[in-house]
Amino acid sequence: MLSQCMSLERVGEPLRLKSRELRPPGPGQVLLRVRACAVCRTDLHLVDGELPDLRLPIVPGHEIVGEVIETGAGVDLARGVRLGVPWLGAACGTCGFCRSELENLCDSARFTGFQIDGGYAEHVLADARFCFPLPDAFDDLHAAPLLCAGVIGYRCLRMAGDAKRIGVYGFGAAAHIIAQVARWQGREIYAFSRPGDEAAQQFARECGAHWAGGSDATPPQLLDAALIFAPVGDLVPIALGAIRKAGVVVCGGIHMSDIPAFRYSLLWGERVVRSVANLTRRDVREFMELAPRVPVRTEVEAFALANANVALARLRTGQLKGAAVLVP
Ligand SMILES: [Zn+2]
Ligand SMILES: [Zn+2]
Repeated sequence: MLSQCMSLERVGEPLRLKSRELRPPGPGQVLLRVRACAVCRTDLHLVDGELPDLRLPIVPGHEIVGEVIETGAGVDLARGVRLGVPWLGAACGTCGFCRSELENLCDSARFTGFQIDGGYAEHVLADARFCFPLPDAFDDLHAAPLLCAGVIGYRCLRMAGDAKRIGVYGFGAAAHIIAQVARWQGREIYAFSRPGDEAAQQFARECGAHWAGGSDATPPQLLDAALIFAPVGDLVPIALGAIRKAGVVVCGGIHMSDIPAFRYSLLWGERVVRSVANLTRRDVREFMELAPRVPVRTEVEAFALANANVALARLRTGQLKGAAVLVP
């Protein structure tokens, strides 16, 4: 049977609509019919050739909602079961990182829509150990952004510890989810967007932000932590300047422009800068349990699979409110 996908053939070129022959699932694998796949900023970095060790062609997409249509040997899942497939697509299971619930750092980890063909497609093959049940309260379209924006945002929030006042730089898909979770947990979100981007600031307030302003503005009080979702290294010293002593700046993106040199006094006082890499299965399980309790509301815009390039262009220019979701 032939199945359609949007494939990246060469860096910097638009994705191409292709037909490919479906392979049956191998041992431990599951074949899913894709019901929805959200578009992530990482997909832009992929298309732009900003991620190392890219092997082409590749089908992007790592926020996949699909239903089981066939299983390989050793997989006990019924046809029709709905599953989510996130960015972390495989890990060795035996290294020190894997054995300490840090499979996100496994040297042999492989990633969906990067090293494994992803969800910009009618069908996808996935490792059943990295597929997850999704909460019933979310339909396919609204569940898709939970899988990366939600889960990685949640991991960033975890790294902020018990911070009460949290700055968020870049108010897109991840921030709009995490702002709701943080407020539900009794924390305050201070949202920073591009200076003058009134629409983003208004959106942040609608998502429960306590305060919203431009990244050049000074927040009304010192913050306990800052999460940076925008891929802009200049924001690191800015965020350091906005947090109190012993506060943490969490860089949530997979790629960031260079961080400019800054004076030591910004880091002094036991301030911490750290990154968040990928996600663990524990993050997915915890977040999927949490999301319906908040309940998280995801703002989505649907695009046909063949319009994936349009969705990417809209994300690039900041014209999306919430997350773009492809519906095959
Ligand atoms: Zn992502
Ligand atoms: Zn490992």
